[in-house]
Parts: sequence; C-alpha cells; structure tokens
Amino acid sequence: MSEAVHCHYHQNNAAIWHCEPCQKHYGDCCIPNMPEGYDEPACTLCSEQVTYLGAAHTAEPFWLIINKFFTYPVQLASLSFLMISVVIGFLAPYTGPAAPILSLVMMAVLIKYSLQIIESVSFGDWEPPSLEEAFSADALGLFFKQIAIFIVGGIALYFISSLGWIAFFAALFFMLLGMPASTMILAREQSLFSAVNPIKIAFVMAAIGWPYLLLYFFLIVLSGGPAYFIGFQLEPSAGTVAASSFLGGYFSFVMYAMMGYCLYQYQAALGYAAEMDDYEEVSEEAYRKNKALADSLILMREGREEEALKAVKGALTSAASDLQLNKRFFQLLMLTATDEVLKKFAGKYTQRLLIVRKDHEAADIYLEVRKRIKAYMPVTASDRFKLAKALSETGRAREALRLLFNMHKTFPDFAGIPEAYLLVAKMLSENLNNDEQAKVYLDYIIKKYPDSKKAEEATVFRHVLEQLTPQTA
Ligand SMILES: [Zn+2]
Ligand SMILES: [Zn+2]
Repeated sequence: MSEAVHCHYHQNNAAIWHCEPCQKHYGDCCIPNMPEGYDEPACTLCSEQVTYLGAAHTAEPFWLIINKFFTYPVQLASLSFLMISVVIGFLAPYTGPAAPILSLVMMAVLIKYSLQIIESVSFGDWEPPSLEEAFSADALGLFFKQIAIFIVGGIALYFISSLGWIAFFAALFFMLLGMPASTMILAREQSLFSAVNPIKIAFVMAAIGWPYLLLYFFLIVLSGGPAYFIGFQLEPSAGTVAASSFLGGYFSFVMYAMMGYCLYQYQAALGYAAEMDDYEEVSEEAYRKNKALADSLILMREGREEEALKAVKGALTSAASDLQLNKRFFQLLMLTATDEVLKKFAGKYTQRLLIVRKDHEAADIYLEVRKRIKAYMPVTASDRFKLAKALSETGRAREALRLLFNMHKTFPDFAGIPEAYLLVAKMLSENLNNDEQAKVYLDYIIKKYPDSKKAEEATVFRHVLEQLTPQTA
C-alpha cells in the first residue's frame, strides 16, 4: 500500500515531486505549476531536476471514495447511454431476425463504452465519455480485442491442461485473478498483446499490491448488484428485462470507473505518471510570483535568508505592488536586514497597504517594526495619522498616541492636525481617563483652527467633558 507522502515543508500537502540528491519531497506548494513551454522544474535547494511522482500521493485511495463510483454513472452522458440501451433492449424482440444482431451490437457498444470509462477516469476525468464517443466506430476495435482476449485465454488453457490438472487450475486461477488487470491494461494501452501478456498482468497486480485484492473483492460484490435488486426470474416480464439491463449497465459503469481510478491512483507505480500531466493554465506573471514565494519559503526554512531575499527581490522588480511579495520581502528583511534598510522598505510597504485601504494590516507592520526598532516612526504625517486611526480602532491607544505626539511641531503645515488632535483628545479621555490633557488638545484645535469643522466638534466634545468633570470630582 503506498503510504501518503507529504511535502517536506507542508505537512498538509501531498508530494508531487521528489529531489533525489536532497532526498526531499515537494508538493505543488513548493514547486508551483509552470506555464506551458517550460522545462521540467528544478529543486530550489540544489538546482538538480526533480522527478515527477504524478498524482500518486494526491489521489485518495479508491476504498475511501466508494461513494464517488456509485454516483459516477448518474451523469447526463452515461444515463442517456443507459436509457438508449434499455430502449433498444425493449424493442429488440420485435425486430424479428435482426434481434440477435441488434443485441450483439449493443453488447459491443456497452463493452467499448465501459473501456472508455476506464480510460477517462484513469486520467482523472470524472465526466463519462459522451454519447458521440460511445457510438463512434473507431474505438470498436476495443470490443474485438476484448473478445480476442477471451479466445487467447481459452486456447492457452487448452494447451496448459495437457501439462496436468495442477497446471490447469493454477493457470485458471491466474487468469480469473488477472482479469481486471488485463481489462485495465486493454483500456489504457489499447493493445491486445499487452492485455494478454502474463508478465504485464502480473506487473500491474504487483504494482497495485494488496489493494488489488480489495479491488477484486469490490468488483465481485458489484457484479452481483443487478441480481441483488432483481433476483432470478425464469420468465422475466418486459419491465424486469428493462430494469435488469439498466442495472447491469449501471453496475458495470461503477466497476469500470473503479478500475479506471485504480490506474489513476497507482499511476506512479504503474509508470503512467509522466503521461498524466494535467496542466492548469498559469500565466507567466503568476508563475514568477508563485515561484518566488515558494522558493523564498524553502530557503528561509533552510536558513538561507540571503538567497530567499534575492528570489523575492527579483520577482518584486516586475510586480512591485504585489502585496504577497511585499509581505514576504518584509518578513525576510525583519530577519536579515539592517535597521536602515528595514525602515526604508517598511515605509514603502506601509504606503502600499494604505493606498489599498489595508490600514489595519499596515498598523500591524508598524508594530512589527517597532518590536525591532524602538524609535521607528513613519516618515509622513498622513501615514502616521492613518496608522494611528487604525490602532485606536483596535484599542491600541498608547501606540496611536505615540504616532501623533507633537504633530503640530513636526508637521506644522499638515492639514489633518485638527482631526488628528481630536482623535488624540478622544483617546486621552476614553482610553487613558485623562480629561484634563484631552481638554488641552481640544483648546488647541479651537484656538488654532477656529474656522475648521473640527473646531465645532472640539467645542461640543469639550462641553461634554466640562459637564462630566464636576460630577466625577
Ligand atoms: Zn510545500
Ligand atoms: Zn535538491
């Protein structure tokens, strides 16, 4: 049983790539999908090419998604197919001499369609093949190959029986056991030779391992499905015939979907992984960004911060305003950069966040920088004010007050001073219980900016404070 392998850096993500020299597994978190036309990806740590593991570790084991197989035939294409076969089954007896031919054709189409189901599910496609594909003549060869497999098997048994009973039963046992494997090979490779090749069949069974027996068990149970629902009837009514052909088709689709999924789940072990590349369209831009984020995280975790920084810096040159890249760059600078460099970038990053109205995130960045640089102050008055507002909204009044301290001296021309000082007065009164100090700020607004709207608000606020004071005193 293939045990789940995770990305070395993300325990919740399945591994898709493996680096032999580093002995590390990566998920698509760490080796992001590439746009078309790129070479195979390389390992971030050693630059060697990584090996594709396919969906082997992302695919859930088939025994955990049984429900999905039962709902698989309940889709437009497969249901239409079933309805058509029921109708034909219904009409066949009335067609006279054409009846056996019609039944045979229907069986051929059913077998072919079932094999097409294996193929499509084996590629991870959960939509059943269309009616057009079902009734196209070009895949009818599959039906004849399926018949040929039984003939070859029969002939082989005949010759083996001449070797004695033990050999005969051993061969029969192997054939019965290998039947699903043979069917899966036929659907996938469409080659009669491969599908009757005992070595190939044994290889598939061994590659799947013990779960092959589980699959076998499921298939046997499922093949009894129609009989379970209808039971055996010696003289079935027309309704029973219709129901049994419907259920027969339904259960065989469930079985074939399960076999197809088995190929999908074990694609790495079966050597099909490389063919199963399922490319999601990624733009050049998105790829550069994802790669910088992924690489920098890996390098950071390995203590190679300088290289991580370089990776993000490269991506930032073409996407300067990307907030995720900015954030990662900031995190890296926090770890490695000098105070000067950190201050400079933090200022730019803060502004970018403020422009897109992520004031609270900007406030968090401010507090982060303050942890390292006690004296840190954003450069412009408007940045300080916006940050202070965000901080006061989350109850961090002291930090907010610090930002607005002495603003009328540092930025005498700043138009937002009345508003900023009104905020200071509110925080002093409400958060620090310092009404006296609050009044000083209010008086300043009233006196210095008598014509501003804020002066009115300051007057009202001051009045409220006045009224409160005698009662509390
Ligand atoms: Zn990862
Ligand atoms: Zn490596």
